[in-house]
Amino acid sequence: MEKFEVTIIGAGIVGLALAARLAPKLKAELLLVEQQEGFGRETSSRNSEVVHAGIYYPENSLKARLCVTGRRQIYKLCQDHDIACQRLGKIIVATSTDEEKYLADLLKRGRENGVEELKMLSSGESQTLEPQVKAQAALLSPVTGIVDSHNLMRLFQNQTKTAGTTIAFHTGITAIRPLHPGFRLECTGPDQDKFSFSSKIVINCAGLNAARLSRLAGILTPPIHYAKGSYFSYSGSSPLAHLVYPAPPTGGHGLGIHATIDLGGRLRFGPDLEYCDEPDYTVNADRRPHFAAAIKRYLPGLDENRLVPDMAGIRPRLQGPDDPFTDFIIREETPETPGFINLLGIESPGLTAAPAIADEVTALLDL
Ligand SMILES: Cc1cc2nc3c(=O)[nH]c(=O)nc-3n(C[C@H](O)[C@H](O)[C@H](O)COP(=O)(O)OP(=O)(O)OC[C@H]3O[C@@H](n4cnc5c(N)ncnc54)[C@H](O)[C@@H]3O)c2cc1C
Repeated sequence: MEKFEVTIIGAGIVGLALAARLAPKLKAELLLVEQQEGFGRETSSRNSEVVHAGIYYPENSLKARLCVTGRRQIYKLCQDHDIACQRLGKIIVATSTDEEKYLADLLKRGRENGVEELKMLSSGESQTLEPQVKAQAALLSPVTGIVDSHNLMRLFQNQTKTAGTTIAFHTGITAIRPLHPGFRLECTGPDQDKFSFSSKIVINCAGLNAARLSRLAGILTPPIHYAKGSYFSYSGSSPLAHLVYPAPPTGGHGLGIHATIDLGGRLRFGPDLEYCDEPDYTVNADRRPHFAAAIKRYLPGLDENRLVPDMAGIRPRLQGPDDPFTDFIIREETPETPGFINLLGIESPGLTAAPAIADEVTALLDL
């Protein structure tokens, strides 16, 4: 039976960033396994591609720390490897006195988290920046940006392969048996062929499927909820030059239906938040009035006839509909199952945080 030192399950942005980090040391002793025919076919290609600053999350949480560090790493990677990104900047908009107070709290929290250059804007300053946006006040984050996440993943893939590590696509893990020490993994290959191999360490980066994979190894985890987020694109030219977010709903349930601009200059609104039982990527056109109402609070001149159903992504959330904030879980499952590392609930800002998550996991390994 073939043997590996480390197996990473899942070639989304997180598994790829981790593979690129470990491959130069482990070379052919590392394996990256992915059930789809290519990288980033699930949540990593169904998101806003925003490089978040790290404002929203509680101080000292993994989300705060890894977002701030990951953002700096992503901008450096883009510069060094000629990957498209733009620091467009973002404004978070208050449309009431309560929301204005909330922005003051966000400013304080963002600064505690180490976010640079944050600035409170008056209504007039906000209007100079974004004439179409109605704001009583706004919080400006100049370091927030957008990135070509596909090419970032391609870079991690190339770095992994160049170091001599195999990425096995079309290979789904179907069983994991702890051997104490190590694990035996069974999988189904591209031709529905079944085979198995062993690995001293297994790192579960399986996104929406992570809790199920953990259970395969006999490790129970908190449930992962599927929290769907749909987008509507805005046809024609964009009236906005920055990313524009409303003051977020209370309780950490999403960031509110916001405006993002992609690298082609296309404006999109979303994602909203709907918990669902099974992954379902259809966008319900009936949600247009709901989107229009939310957007018009900060963009009153919106022509809702230009809203076109676009795509949807699904957040792997540990936070259920009535739960308070939950952080990422990144841990080795000791003492029961040493060598098994779980990454759970890697929702936003998981794209931004990916390189820092790779460092965090590497620090757990005794290589
Ligand atoms: C609507 C939405 C908007 C978002 N916007 C942003 C944003 O703007 N900025 C930001 O920083 N983050 C954002 N995020 C979060 C970000 O997209 C995710 O945190 C990130 O993509 C997670 O990457 P991942 O590698 O953990 O998961 P995934 O991309 O889901 O990768 C997991 C991989 O595991 C594979 N897998 C599963 N089971 C098996 C198996 N049995 N065998 C083999 N392979 C398996 C899957 O096929 C998949 O490719 C957003 C998320 C959503 C849903």
